[in-house]
Amino acid sequence: MGASAVEDEDDPFEEQREKAENPMRRLFTEYGSDNKLAFVVGVLSSIVARVLDLLPPILLGVAVDTIFELQGAPDRQYTLQLIPQTWIPGTERGQLFFTVGIIAFAFFGGAAFHYGRNWGWNSFSQHIQHRVRTDTYDKMQRLNMDFFADKQTGEMMSILSNDVNRLERFLNDGMNSAFRLGVMVIGIAVVLVWTNWQLATITLVIVPLIAVFTYYFIKTIQPKYADVRSSVGKVNSRLENNLGGIQVIKTSNTESFESDRVDGVSQGYFDANWDAISTRIKFFPSLRVLSGVGFVLTFFIGGLMVLGNGIGPFTSTLRPGEFVTFILLSQRFIWPMAQFGQIINMYQRARASSSRIFGLMDEPSRIVEDPEADELTVSDGEIVYEDVTFGYDESETIIEDVSFDVDGGDTLALVGPTGAGKSTVLKLLLRMYDVNEGSITIDGQDLRDVTIPSLRRQIGYVSQDTFMFYGTVAENIAYGSFEADRESVIEAAKAAEAHDFIRNLPDGYDTEVGERGVKLSGGQRQRISIARAILKDPEILILDEATSDVDTETEMLIQRSLDRLTQDRTTFSIAHRLSTIKDADQIVVLEGGQIVERGTHDGLIAEDGLYAHLWGVQAGEIDELPDEFIERAQQRDANRIEAGE
Ligand code: ADP
Repeated sequence: MGASAVEDEDDPFEEQREKAENPMRRLFTEYGSDNKLAFVVGVLSSIVARVLDLLPPILLGVAVDTIFELQGAPDRQYTLQLIPQTWIPGTERGQLFFTVGIIAFAFFGGAAFHYGRNWGWNSFSQHIQHRVRTDTYDKMQRLNMDFFADKQTGEMMSILSNDVNRLERFLNDGMNSAFRLGVMVIGIAVVLVWTNWQLATITLVIVPLIAVFTYYFIKTIQPKYADVRSSVGKVNSRLENNLGGIQVIKTSNTESFESDRVDGVSQGYFDANWDAISTRIKFFPSLRVLSGVGFVLTFFIGGLMVLGNGIGPFTSTLRPGEFVTFILLSQRFIWPMAQFGQIINMYQRARASSSRIFGLMDEPSRIVEDPEADELTVSDGEIVYEDVTFGYDESETIIEDVSFDVDGGDTLALVGPTGAGKSTVLKLLLRMYDVNEGSITIDGQDLRDVTIPSLRRQIGYVSQDTFMFYGTVAENIAYGSFEADRESVIEAAKAAEAHDFIRNLPDGYDTEVGERGVKLSGGQRQRISIARAILKDPEILILDEATSDVDTETEMLIQRSLDRLTQDRTTFSIAHRLSTIKDADQIVVLEGGQIVERGTHDGLIAEDGLYAHLWGVQAGEIDELPDEFIERAQQRDANRIEAGE
């Protein structure tokens, strides 16, 4: 349908989605089977509740014909289908009590079954929703890192929230309504046909008409709603963008220009909305006309049947009570029929959502653990890269023939311009990706032969994005080392030069951080993540631009804590500020994914190559740089823009 087509644009899971055949059936067989009881209770209660709902109008009809006889009408016997005649009292008074009793039972029993119905459906859908959400999340965590690029993160959030909610809505409301509607239409149709099939033909002919009408209505309005949603999005982005840039707007004197732009998007929203509204407001009046035609015809022909013998092909007699039953029942299903299109629509959306969910679940993992993998045991911590070649996709090689080895406890610094492949080299060590050619070994064990958890347990990672989870400072330090006690957390914080500032926070180590809590500065967050690494006490350490974005004083504090952290551990370090890696045992200079120089700081300075020039730039010796160096920098800069970075 229109809306889902719009939402599915740019869908990274498209391929898998197409493969996920019969997603609704899979949903029921894989997830529904655990909740059979709830489903059966829901279905049975729906049926009984509906049947009980139909009783009062039928009884009213019988009562009109037999108890409250019209003047001059012949005396009739009180009979009820399916109820033995001996149960029915002989006097009219008794029959009245009997009728009232059944009606009361229909109401109270109906209430109980309504409860059962809601319990059943809700329990069924909530359990499925919960399991689908947790399974999807589990799977998502194991996806390749490629999926966590910006666009896909949004897409995955939308699968985890929107799609799962849409399933819930269908399972809860859609299926429930579909069932109710089905039972009701069939139940009413049976009673009407039983009572008087000729008149029933007239009353029921309206049902498919209403169904078709609402279906087409939904089909027309869906794309309009999609337009409304997309224009709301445009208005919001524009407003957000302008609020963020308010200083630029004021200083550039562009208020009226921006007002016009906002006017433009708002007008777009108005138009889209009005288009949808003008369609929507025609729906109920049209439905009223359709059902009115049915009602008038039923009333007219039914009336003629009561008075005489009907008209044309509709010749039959009808008792006034039956007529009342007819009118009451025919009114019962007109309005619920208006939901019919909505149910089809919910079904289609739920189907699209479950395809997306199963698409994600079926996504194959690029990193596959060898079932016979051993635990990694680190003794010295010697790391060897041998002829490593790698590309994120087949078309482009990012790392080419990279070889180096780091002795246990040494520090290797990776240096090079942005995009040279430094982070990629480290991601390979964490086995976020597998090498295409060559091998990486730790103390002689190939990364592909050891279990992933044992590998990652031995590696501490401190990066420039120091992410804080919702929770307290202490929890953030102990993240991943959950068994650590308070003393060791404090020890780690002290070693990371973080203890002093943490003590000054409103609740010390119990201060909430993250979006909902205290906002820490970049340097403070970084020291917390260093403390986290110290507490984890890994054999191998990765520092990914760990001291970018901080002022010189903070950098000094961080550097002190890092020196403590890197002692006696094999360390890989990436730093733009070369002063921080000057003392590394080995410096490897990468350019375009290849090693162009290697050595110690003094050796590389003496070589007067790329490293020496980068060092020169940072020392402020720009005027003394050779032209060729500047040209290469300009070339790289231009390439970066082309690549959209
Ligand atoms: P550095 O750390 O030296 O700045 P990176 O290792 O981050 O370099 O990136 C090297 C190259 O790999 C860049 O051209 C970058 O665009 C590309 N790249 C990095 N991550 C990905 C990814 N997840 N998918 C595709 N290409 C990537």
